[in-house]
Amino acid sequence: MYDLVIIGGGASGLLTAALAAGENLKTVVLERNNAPAKKIYATGNGHCNYLNEKAGDVRRIERTLGSIGIAGVKDEDGRFYPRSREASAVALALVRAAEKSGAKIICDCHVSDVVKRNGSFLAVSKDGRKFEGKYLVIATGGKAGIQFGCYGEGYKWAQYMGHSLVKPVPALVPVECEEDISALHGVRVKGNVSLLKNGETLCSESGEIQFTKDSISGICVMDLSGKIRLSEDAAYVLSVDLFPEHTEEELAEVLGWQKETAGSMLEGLLPAKLKKYIEDLYGDKDKEALASLLKDMRFSIKGTRGWADAQVTAGGVPLQEIDPDTMESLKTGGLYFTGEIIDYDGPCGGFNLANAWSTAIRAAEDIKRKADGRMD
Ligand SMILES: Cc1cc2nc3c(=O)[nH]c(=O)nc-3n(C[C@H](O)[C@H](O)[C@H](O)COP(=O)(O)OP(=O)(O)OC[C@H]3O[C@@H](n4cnc5c(N)ncnc54)[C@H](O)[C@@H]3O)c2cc1C
Repeated sequence: MYDLVIIGGGASGLLTAALAAGENLKTVVLERNNAPAKKIYATGNGHCNYLNEKAGDVRRIERTLGSIGIAGVKDEDGRFYPRSREASAVALALVRAAEKSGAKIICDCHVSDVVKRNGSFLAVSKDGRKFEGKYLVIATGGKAGIQFGCYGEGYKWAQYMGHSLVKPVPALVPVECEEDISALHGVRVKGNVSLLKNGETLCSESGEIQFTKDSISGICVMDLSGKIRLSEDAAYVLSVDLFPEHTEEELAEVLGWQKETAGSMLEGLLPAKLKKYIEDLYGDKDKEALASLLKDMRFSIKGTRGWADAQVTAGGVPLQEIDPDTMESLKTGGLYFTGEIIDYDGPCGGFNLANAWSTAIRAAEDIKRKADGRMD
């Protein structure tokens, strides 16, 4: 019997445990992997971009993380990384803080069932172990990064406790297109990218666009990917503007000069593979037609790379069904949601871990307040 049962020993589950556990709150963290915090080691390409100065709650998060030994540096774009630039610094600090505050972390504990009974919650592991608690935090993440233990199991417990579900889809994920782009493998180019649904622009981003033999990525493309909801009556297209610094007319003029001076309109303007791809595909256009193409190069989206390549989940437990100050369920008292299981997905840059921290802080404070019998 525990006071607080937390399912999921990832970012938000561990921080909730670190902040809530104590004499008044006997706490257990149940983690299906053989070690906690596995996903954190992979974040930010191993460097863990754990916060962004533009994230909500940033000062409170910075202070809280500082208090458990996560000291960071901010880069010129406002992204926070541990001073060591090693994700392990964040993972180890979380585990240390959770254990120091008295939480028990049980690994290889795959929770398969959750039941509410007589005012408490019972979490049952696949091998039959039972953990009962007055408060339950579902911190199982979404479905992104299945290789780190996230299969979306928390959703079914949320639904069992009366919640609805915004359909989870992979976000911050490379997109796949109908066109054969294998010749572009390895190309990186700067530009503007717009996501179009049935011809209407949904959103645009700028930055580096990266091509592999069968997908398009780069932060700007990944940031748009969570808006893709393919269906029979929704066609999505990526429109790439390779020369955002020029209007179409200016670009046509530049192309004319290139033709005169270098003999080819695209000479020296684009990476060789991309130049050849465009020339092979579109032949010898006049400068106006080529300028128009370069400002709006289209790729028809056939899908995304899916859960294994997604960094985050769009969709999940609706925000309207959770008290925003405490993260307590508005459907079932004593039940809390933290992190990615909630219907929030932020852009690249530290916003998703910021969401994990901020929801964990709010949940932990509320559970502690209740356990201490304080009503303020
Ligand atoms: C490759 C990659 C890179 C990323 N880089 C960044 C970055 O640099 N910056 C950023 O802000 N965000 C990044 N993210 C996103 C960020 O890591 C997540 O949004 C964040 O970790 C979510 O925290 P969470 O606590 O909700 O879930 P998670 O950290 O995913 O933890 C959930 C935990 O629950 C456990 N679990 C699930 N089901 C069960 C069960 N049934 N029983 C027991 N345990 C269970 C899982 O094993 C897992 O350990 C990245 C994600 C990936 C995949």
